[in-house]
Amino acid sequence: MAKRQRRSRGRSRVLRKNKFFTGLIIALLVLALIAGAYYYFFIYRKKNQSLEENNGSDSNGDNGGEVLEGEGDLSIHFLELGNKYNGDCIFIKTGDTEVLIDGGSREDSSDDIERYIDGYCTDGVLEYVIVTHADQDHIAAFAGNRSNSSLFERFECKTIIDFPRTNKTTQTYQRYLEARNGEVNEGAVRYSALQCYREEDGAKRSYALSENASLNILYNYYYENYSSDENNYSVCVTVTHGKSTYLFTGDLEEEGEEKLLEYNDLPQCKLYKAGHHGSSTSSTEKLLKAIKPEYVCVCCCAGAPEYTKTNASTFPTQKMLDRVLRYTKNVYVTSMATEVDLEKKDWEVTSMNGNIVVRSDGEHLTVTGSNNSTPLPETDWFLNHRNLG
Ligand SMILES: [Zn+2]
Repeated sequence: MAKRQRRSRGRSRVLRKNKFFTGLIIALLVLALIAGAYYYFFIYRKKNQSLEENNGSDSNGDNGGEVLEGEGDLSIHFLELGNKYNGDCIFIKTGDTEVLIDGGSREDSSDDIERYIDGYCTDGVLEYVIVTHADQDHIAAFAGNRSNSSLFERFECKTIIDFPRTNKTTQTYQRYLEARNGEVNEGAVRYSALQCYREEDGAKRSYALSENASLNILYNYYYENYSSDENNYSVCVTVTHGKSTYLFTGDLEEEGEEKLLEYNDLPQCKLYKAGHHGSSTSSTEKLLKAIKPEYVCVCCCAGAPEYTKTNASTFPTQKMLDRVLRYTKNVYVTSMATEVDLEKKDWEVTSMNGNIVVRSDGEHLTVTGSNNSTPLPETDWFLNHRNLG
């Protein structure tokens, strides 16, 4: 009995001891909870709130002085083409929307064009592809050949707008058609410029590129009438950006320009891509008077005797410059010829301005050449081969 009492007294002492420790642990837990809640509500959350506020102000433009392209900006790139021939390739970018106008000058230009575009276009998608006319110096990189795959294979092209008419039956043109139709089979939409102008079959006359930029297909009389000159079939477009208009007429010749003025109400154009690589037969006084360009970019190999043995009629021609320089001295040229042999029609190529990048905020333009940014009238080439008239 005594043994049992002792034992039970001993048990109750142990129980009291246990209760004390349990109470202590609960009290500690409660204290820890209070401390945790205090830290979460009064320190952690406040710290994060102020971090979020800081991040917000960063995305509003406080980036430590680094100059970034603004959200509504647009750039136009006149590309060098990796060989000595005259040809057009113009890349336009605003936001994530990319436009490519023409793919000259030869099939082997496609490597250079792809490499250049890849520096700006990260998703491999060209939203709009404009092909002005069927001459090889505008379609060859789209046509491709055995050793050079077509630009249509290198990029996913969403909407292709090309020339309604051609007199061409060349191999290059046939390969162009095959490659273009291949892209259509893979999901691209193709319209002729005439369908666009007439807004037929879902085509549109004007495509929004961004909130403040659009691509507009002009009317060219030769979209539906015969011309013996392939150049007059050129698809003509403007890009409008904010208050500015930029004009692209492919290789349109004098008759084409005359009709263009007759059928379209052309505004003053901040920038004009010199028609037909600066040929004397394009950029007529009538057109220039209507558009009063402030900047003229010429896609050509200056002084190359590709089509002539006469220095003054190599691109850009003296006659064309006589007319243009009355409106602006801001003339830029992609490439120039060296080691020229007029008699043998032979030459090599080097950069003039190089790839010409025109940046626009919708009102002001800045021009930067990958080689230099010197306007044509200030170059040695001009001093040696041309004059101010
Ligand atoms: Zn051309």
